[in-house]
Amino acid sequence: MAAASRHSPESTGALIVGAGSGVRFGGAKAFVAWRGEPLIWWAARPFARAGDIGQVVLVVRREDLEEARSLLGRLGCPGQALEGGATRSESVRRGLAALPPSVNRVLVHDAARPNLSAALLRRILGEPGPAVVPCLQLHDAMHRLEPDGLSSTVDRRGVVRVQTPQAFDRNLLEQAHAGGEDAADDAALVERLGIPVRFVPGEEENLKVTTPEDIRRLERFHAGMLVGHGYDIHRLAAGRRLVLCGVEIPSERGALGHSDADAATHALMDAILGAAGLPDIGHLFPPEDESYRDARSVGLLADVVARIGGLGLQVAQADLTVVLENPRVGPYREAMRQTLADVLQLPTERVSVKATTAEGLGAVGGGEAIEAWALATLRWLPR
Ligand code: MG
Repeated sequence: MAAASRHSPESTGALIVGAGSGVRFGGAKAFVAWRGEPLIWWAARPFARAGDIGQVVLVVRREDLEEARSLLGRLGCPGQALEGGATRSESVRRGLAALPPSVNRVLVHDAARPNLSAALLRRILGEPGPAVVPCLQLHDAMHRLEPDGLSSTVDRRGVVRVQTPQAFDRNLLEQAHAGGEDAADDAALVERLGIPVRFVPGEEENLKVTTPEDIRRLERFHAGMLVGHGYDIHRLAAGRRLVLCGVEIPSERGALGHSDADAATHALMDAILGAAGLPDIGHLFPPEDESYRDARSVGLLADVVARIGGLGLQVAQADLTVVLENPRVGPYREAMRQTLADVLQLPTERVSVKATTAEGLGAVGGGEAIEAWALATLRWLPR
């Protein structure tokens, strides 16, 4: 974890401004759906998850107030939804006025920036100074188009592109807005006071959705699937339980192992870890570690899901095959799928569990062992 913020949750507030009509987008952008949620939900989510931001204020159009309140509830963070003004700056002023007196540092973020990373938010929160703003270097040559059809070159030295969230001491931001002026962003108003703004490196992925093409650009940041494969085999012995995908199956013989010896879940965990490029379960949950004795393997699977979540990944789909001579697994198949789907946070139809016998061949066919194979597909989470 990066350096912690020097500010307590009660003292830090976030304003997410999304009251614009989205002229260049052809409709209000803040509530355009992306991956099942409005852009403003994605924009607010990093603040809700940061843990050290006490108030998240959504400033939206009057007709969007109800939906904004509902999504605050889904984000599970303290906050409020407010009606914005005719300009972006007026919306910020309304949000500022609504913050509790305990708030002395304010982050202002565009509702149309749904891809802010936790790392960039940390960087901004960790930077000292009364005004902290993320920016990007310009690499393309810049020309100014003149009305007469000619153009002139702009000297790009010292020119940067400015993003949000921008962090300010509350007093300073209130002072910057006291004149009721309008500006493209809050840093511009602070600069007019002659206060130096501290710039930190922004992120290209933290783009502002301005046109429908930008939604496609967002998708490209999250394109690509990862695939992993897992295999496991356990000896069968009398007096042991037989657990598969977290479901206990009545059987005279069960699987031998240090944990509950759930071979299917072990194969699945290795498939997920393999796709994510992480060490296998033998490394993560060593058998010599007594804390894993008789551990429920689907509990370890939940741990694996959380680990890949930390890398920005989630399971998109899982496909398992269990090879067992007897008993028949078929009657328990739906319960097994459902148990895995719950842990993987997937609809049941994205989890497949198949069972077959070994036709009497080899150790598995002779009833001495159970075998399991798994494939897992992972996708990148929006950040
Ligand atoms: Mg195993």
